[in-house]
Amino acid sequence: MLADSAIEPFLFRGHRFLVKRDDLIDPLLSGNKYRKLYSLIHTPAQQYKQLLSYGGTQSNAMLSIAALCHQKSWQFHYTSKPVPAHLKQEPTGNLKLALELGMQLHEVAHDDYDAAISVLKSQAEDGCLFVPQGGADPIARAGIGQLATEITQWQQEHEIESLYVVTPSGTGTTAFYLAEALNNATVLTTPAVGDKAYLLSQMNLLGAVPENLRMLESDKKHHFARPYPELLKIWQELKDTGIAFDLIYGALMWHTLLQHIDSIKGTVLYVHSGGLIGNATMLERYRHKGMILNG
Ligand SMILES: *Cc1c(COP(=O)(O)O)cnc(C)c1O
Repeated sequence: MLADSAIEPFLFRGHRFLVKRDDLIDPLLSGNKYRKLYSLIHTPAQQYKQLLSYGGTQSNAMLSIAALCHQKSWQFHYTSKPVPAHLKQEPTGNLKLALELGMQLHEVAHDDYDAAISVLKSQAEDGCLFVPQGGADPIARAGIGQLATEITQWQQEHEIESLYVVTPSGTGTTAFYLAEALNNATVLTTPAVGDKAYLLSQMNLLGAVPENLRMLESDKKHHFARPYPELLKIWQELKDTGIAFDLIYGALMWHTLLQHIDSIKGTVLYVHSGGLIGNATMLERYRHKGMILNG
């Protein structure tokens, strides 16, 4: 079993931060996906034969589940909407790796997608595990609880009274269980998918949203996984400062956090949520849009 991930100081734009390096845990099973899949990583291989899931074809969760299934010799069936022709011809990024790890992709037409997902859920029988999109499932609670324990021990050792723990949200599963398990810290997050109201509705599927969870919003609306010059800029600056984050969630979280930083009084610990392999695909999109000129 892995030792606690490191916590490192990180000086950025004149502000002191600490970063919990969950990105260094494993290249494929990294960041919050490692935490969310933690209990499955520690499940005996013979317990399941196959795992079913669904979602986007460049999803970080998809890649991490593919790595998990590869380790366990579980079949991995993944349902998605139709894959664009260029990607199908020449898969890149997370999709390429997941296919190489043995993932079996099942494309379903847009109109039939919701019905296909309902069927998937009802199919999960003995020896077959169903994991919802992005790993948004109570199965994530144990691993994120472990993350919270590591943070609390560190907080006590360093006698930190006012602690803010920052991490970006997709489904909100990570931020939700983190806030639930941290008794003496505030969790700050931002919705990368949809707005605050949407994130709240996603979190409500897991339970009542803990009071120590706060959602920060960027002054400008950012659509999920689209290229924006300001996100590329901060991503590059973070990288030049010494830590690579992911271009979708991480760049948006830092961009948003910096807008609110003057109102945050206390120690700020950023939990790196991983997802670096997806950067190749995003950088390609930035290049395609002409936003990257030097390469
Ligand atoms: C999946 C992911 C998230 C979102 O996690 P949720 O638990 O779904 O909110 C954030 N950052 C990265 C890099 C991710 O891959």
